[in-house]
Formats: sequence, structure tokens, C-alpha cells
Amino acid sequence: MEYYVLTLFPEMIEQGMNTSIIGRAIEEDILHLKAVNIRDYTNSRHGKTDDYPYGGGAGMVMQAQPIYDAYRSVADGLSYRPRVIHLTPQGRVFDQEMARELALEKGLVFLCGHYEGIDERVLDEIVTDNVSIGDFVLTGGELPAMCMMDAIARMIPGVLHNEESAEDDSFGDGLLEFPQYSRPECWNGIHVPPILLSGDHAKVDAWRREQSLIRTAQRRPDLLEKAAISPKEREFVKNYLANRDEQ
Ligand code: SAM
Repeated sequence: MEYYVLTLFPEMIEQGMNTSIIGRAIEEDILHLKAVNIRDYTNSRHGKTDDYPYGGGAGMVMQAQPIYDAYRSVADGLSYRPRVIHLTPQGRVFDQEMARELALEKGLVFLCGHYEGIDERVLDEIVTDNVSIGDFVLTGGELPAMCMMDAIARMIPGVLHNEESAEDDSFGDGLLEFPQYSRPECWNGIHVPPILLSGDHAKVDAWRREQSLIRTAQRRPDLLEKAAISPKEREFVKNYLANRDEQ
């Protein structure tokens, strides 16, 4: 997977991505990351990349020319037409399903806005996907781009090592993950659920599945409608919620 990030703050991307699991994947050449500084492509003698909005109003708008030229510097060197993801609070909200879908691409270009956003004309010209990371407004697209790159990378074979498997993670099957425990067996007077020490894998799996259902019902009941659960499990959740409401 090749990631290209068009940004006014390349150091933010480099510092954020070159650590831990993602940093290791870059070192192992499973991921390729290039942060392209939009400012390097401006025709302005003073290095300007933004200007006042036509029609007035507060803030500055990122200009079309430097962004388009920065994009061309990436796209002209590729043998395929990459999807260009514009990070914007006005986009489709990012989720695990989108991460899975985007992980199938050969490369992705992320376009990070700042200030009031970007001149619409260059967006119309190059953007294939408008994506938001949630219904709130940040100062720039760099953190959203990093969130997306991290989540997408976890879906790419080899990025996670065996011990970091994504299989049971939340959203894998539309449910939240079960609670996790580690050593010691007793901490602060609180014991690990005894079933986890039983060595009976079938029972542990059944307990974990039940816990996933309960946790999802408690914290994100909206997920249950679309989750891949059997009629018997649906009945279990219904009974759990009915009993809970009675108490
Ligand atoms: N004026 C814009 C609007 O109302 O839609 C918001 C601009 S915001 C202050 C600056 C930049 O931060 C945006 O261009 C975008 O790249 C990024 N950004 C802010 N919130 C975001 C979100 N929830 N998801 C993705 N990107 C976001």
C-alpha cells in the first residue's frame, strides 16, 4: 500500500506515522508513506498557499494551484489513477467497512485541508471521496488522515503480526470486542473471571461471544441491527435487555 498525503504540515504526518506498528510496517516496506508539502508547489514568490474567500467572511481558503500541482507531482509518477480522499467534516463518516474496502487499493492520496477549507474548483477536479471522521470540526485534516491510514493499514496482510491479530477486534463481525484481562490473576482484590483460567477453549469462546453481545447491547445497541448474529443470539440479547430494564 502506498500512502501519499498532501499537506501543509508534512512533519506532523511523518512524526505521527513513524512509530509503533505503523512505523514498523513502513520500515518493513509493507507500507510506503510520502508526505508531500503543498507549499513546495506554490507559484507565489512569497510561498503563499491561501487567500481570502471571495464573497467575504472569516478565515482563509487554501488555493487551488499549489494543491493541484502537488497532486500532479504524485499522480504523474503512478501507473494507476489513485483514489483521492479529501478529509472534510462534510464527507461520508469513516468506519471499519470503509477501512476494509480502501485496504484493497494499491495506493491512496489523502488531501488535508486547513483554515476554512479548500477552493472548491480543485476539489471538483481531483477528489474521488469526501470522508469525515465524525461530526465535529478539527483545525486540519492531518489527524483524520492519520486515523484513516492507521485503520486501513491494520487490514493489510503483514502489518499486524500474529500476536496483534485484528480478528476479534470490535466491528470485526459488527459487535464490540469482549473484555480483556492479563496478569496478575488478582489485582486490587478483583479476580479475573474464573472461566478464563479454565483452559477450556470452547467455554472461553462461548463466554467471550456472550460478553461481546452484552457489551454491544449496553454500549452500542445501534450496532445490533446490522450485526452478524444468529436468531438464538438475538433472543439472548432481547432477554438480557428485558431483564436489565426490569432491575
Ligand atoms: N469550513 C469547513 C466546514 O465547515 O466544513 C471546516 C474547515 S476545518 C476548520 C479545516 C480542515 O480540517 C478541513 O478542511 C478538513 O480537512 C479538516 N477537518 C476538520 N474536521 C474534520 C472531520 N471531522 N473529518 C475530516 N476532516 C476534518
